[in-house]
Amino acid sequence: MTKKITIEKIEELAKRRGFFWQSSEIYGGFSGFYDYGHLGFLLKNKFENAWRNFFLSLDDMFYEIFPTNIMPEQVFQASGHLKSFQDPLCKCKKCGNIERADHLVEEQLKESFEGMSPKDLTELIIKHDIRCPKCGGKLSEVGELNMMFPLDIGADSESRAYLRPETAQGAYINFKRMFEILRKKIPLGLAIIGKAYRNEVSPRQLLIRTREFSQAELQIFFDPDKINEHPKWDEVKDYKLRLTTTKDRKNIIEISCEDANKKLSLPKFYIYYMAKVQQFYLNVMQIPKEIFRFKELSEEEKAFYNKYHWDIELDLASLGGFKEVAGIHYRTDHDLSGHQKISRESMSISIDGKKIIPHVIELSFGIDRNLYALLEMAYSEERDQTILKFPRSLSPVDVVVLPLVKKDGMPKKAREVQDMLKQDFVVFYDESGSIGRRYAREDERGTAFAVTVDSQTMQDDTVTLRDRDTTVQIRVAIKDLIETINKLMRYEIDFEKAGKVVYEP
Ligand code: AMP
Repeated sequence: MTKKITIEKIEELAKRRGFFWQSSEIYGGFSGFYDYGHLGFLLKNKFENAWRNFFLSLDDMFYEIFPTNIMPEQVFQASGHLKSFQDPLCKCKKCGNIERADHLVEEQLKESFEGMSPKDLTELIIKHDIRCPKCGGKLSEVGELNMMFPLDIGADSESRAYLRPETAQGAYINFKRMFEILRKKIPLGLAIIGKAYRNEVSPRQLLIRTREFSQAELQIFFDPDKINEHPKWDEVKDYKLRLTTTKDRKNIIEISCEDANKKLSLPKFYIYYMAKVQQFYLNVMQIPKEIFRFKELSEEEKAFYNKYHWDIELDLASLGGFKEVAGIHYRTDHDLSGHQKISRESMSISIDGKKIIPHVIELSFGIDRNLYALLEMAYSEERDQTILKFPRSLSPVDVVVLPLVKKDGMPKKAREVQDMLKQDFVVFYDESGSIGRRYAREDERGTAFAVTVDSQTMQDDTVTLRDRDTTVQIRVAIKDLIETINKLMRYEIDFEKAGKVVYEP
């Protein structure tokens, strides 16, 4: 029976098993920064590769690039981040504690106030007599802080630069060159997976709000005259999206892409990518449909650069409700026009006999938040222990190889099996402790399969293959192991049918 999941339980397991923990622990910890251990890193790799495989294969013209994390001030002048990437703050007049004003008001009044002006937030604080959560003191007027980390570059601090607050700008400043290299065609997609940095006022909830985090973003450059078409529209037109609109935040509706186009006045090019994002969550990450939704943002809530802005939210029990994990943004020509103005380099292109500045739809995923969601989804308490039931292909470790005992040639044989499997999978090896203890340890790490070399192996070259989620074991010939595991990873065959069942709980 699965017990109640809490943030503390996830944190404890993450630290104990090697997923993540607060950075610079030996110096007392560094608020808003997290280090990943070996399992966290493997899980991150799995997520990133699944994201790449899914989104880059949507179109031959989608490519990944790898721009720098530090960019000069002009980039953020052009993008508007210098002026508009601000968080509202208030300070306690008694103890000096600084808080994100909109979050504080939201916690007290149980309503979202994202995007509200400092003046309006100040009025709410006065009206509802909202006090410092630490000491109960009175709060100052709400001010603003730019969330970017500034840097002085060079020995004489010759120039001002910033750590990027989103990966996206790297795609915009390289668009023109990539367009030329890639034979001048649009739609063109430029994906970036990498770090982003934001000086969050109150980092919280482990990986959910940090100051250094990873993003996977895809910028799709397209012709705005073609926004209400997509060559693969027929594939998705009957697919049902789960969403909540600004008009009715209380309910989630299921609406076909065709109806979303007609009734919600969203363009087909945008909706197509909503469908693909939902399919990624439901099919690849195997998120239960009931906890997934798109949320339409209001004028006040939208990021300053967006015309349409829908967040992807997951209902995470350990965090007490829906949390944003990704977004689909129609950024228009906001960024390219901004760069054209500041750099004085033309961003327009000639296409279909006309000159245009392409528009952009951005798919923006916070990797760390999605990893947290995967951990929560996987977390289960059964068999008197914790088990991480990740989707097989997203498990940090695919297979562990275990010699039943440390004698009779079994460790040597197990090493041979490990070497063979290593070509295709992430493989661990373990020979210490009883077999039951070793299985339990791997279940807690979320390792998808265990291969055990026993005395029968020494006679007929077969091994047992154990499924983490059910503990069922089957016997498989070593020569068939790679193919069998590959099929199981893709859920192409039932576990019980992939070999002779030798153990059932
Ligand atoms: P945004 O550019 O604000 O729409 O953010 C894009 C995505 O990055 C969000 O959907 C989150 O998943 C993630 N994200 C944003 N801010 C943070 C943060 N401070 N810590 C962790 N992830 C974040």
